[in-house]
Amino acid sequence: MNCLFCEIIKGNIPSSKVYEDEYVYAFRDINPQAPVHILLVPKVHISSVDEINAENSVYVAKIFEKIPEIAKSENLGGGYRVITNCGADACQSVKHLHFHILGGTQLIEKMG
Ligand code: 5GP
Ligand code: ZN
Repeated sequence: MNCLFCEIIKGNIPSSKVYEDEYVYAFRDINPQAPVHILLVPKVHISSVDEINAENSVYVAKIFEKIPEIAKSENLGGGYRVITNCGADACQSVKHLHFHILGGTQLIEKMG
């Protein structure tokens, strides 16, 4: 399987790491859409939200446990947005589940 984020997790492709543990890898988006733009990915290959199930949902829980900590360390006390794109209609471009944290500025109201 040729997956960009699996290669980033393995360290085969460099990334700007923000946090890592046995479940979660967090790194800065290469093309930031806000002053703070971080991606959190599970350390197992899950293609999208559509593939979350009872066996792998612990990875999602671990990601969400880390989001407030990362937000705090990135000084996002004013608020932030957490987004995941799932499938073609949502313009998911990398087929490895990832959650975007966006913040550091006033975000636009529109999401779709
Ligand atoms: P999606 O469009 O699938 O929701 O988000 C994919 C995100 O991955 C995009 O925001 C894009 O900028 C980011 N991205 C794509 N390739 C790379 C890369 O090689 N390194 C990093 N750090 N981010 C990437
Ligand atoms: Zn992957």
